[in-house]
Amino acid sequence: MIHCKNLFKSYKTSEFEEIILNNINLEIKDGSSVSISGKSGSGKSTLFHIMSGLEKFTSGDVLIDGKNVKNLNDKDMSAFRKDHIGYIYQFHHLLYEFSVIENVMMPLHIKGMNKDLAYEASIEILKRVALEKRLDFNINKLSGGERQRVAIARALVGSPKYIFADEPTGNLDKKNALNVFSIMKELVVENNSTFLLATHDYEISNKMSQKYLLENGEMKAI
Ligand code: ADP
Ligand code: MG
Repeated sequence: MIHCKNLFKSYKTSEFEEIILNNINLEIKDGSSVSISGKSGSGKSTLFHIMSGLEKFTSGDVLIDGKNVKNLNDKDMSAFRKDHIGYIYQFHHLLYEFSVIENVMMPLHIKGMNKDLAYEASIEILKRVALEKRLDFNINKLSGGERQRVAIARALVGSPKYIFADEPTGNLDKKNALNVFSIMKELVVENNSTFLLATHDYEISNKMSQKYLLENGEMKAI
């Protein structure tokens, strides 16, 4: 479970303080599918970065699996992320100097998995996202939808407990967006992962079991 308690985040300059997250209380139960909507600049990415231990906050607490992230040092936090968190971004963040299969194998390699096993697991997931014919392609030869499907495969290949998807379909046309979303949802459900999705596509957020709107630093169930 991820539990935010009175989570507060602001940016201070010498003249004023800009409040991004204003005492957010939120419980993300294991196995749930949660969407967070909100205008651009409302703080969705900031919240995801904080909940996945990538960013510090001003006050309050964030507990992941009962561990208070304030008590975890950078080494512990990155070890936790490596084992339990998969992240998908709007602009995929794939490595252009590596092929499709190498990109997907990367998190398993970092975990120290044997190369043959990593290869097998990566082929399996690439089949699921219908990219088994693109294994040795360079990333720059792929379409936008294909790139996002590689990013999904890379995020999900180790079956992490938590999947953060930050506007993963924001850069795709409607048909590709729905396709990418349904593949992601299907795999997340199969793995029994906890799924957190930031989106401003209401057709997509409506397919998630819990929905929230982030507005003026506050979180409302919708
Ligand atoms: P969203 O993902 O919903 O578009 P973000 O979380 O990226 O929103 O940003 C929330 C707000 O925080 C924005 O107004 C952004 O400009 C501001 N912000 C983000 N990072 C910084 C920073 N390092 N310093 C000051 N303001 C920032
Ligand atoms: Mg964002």
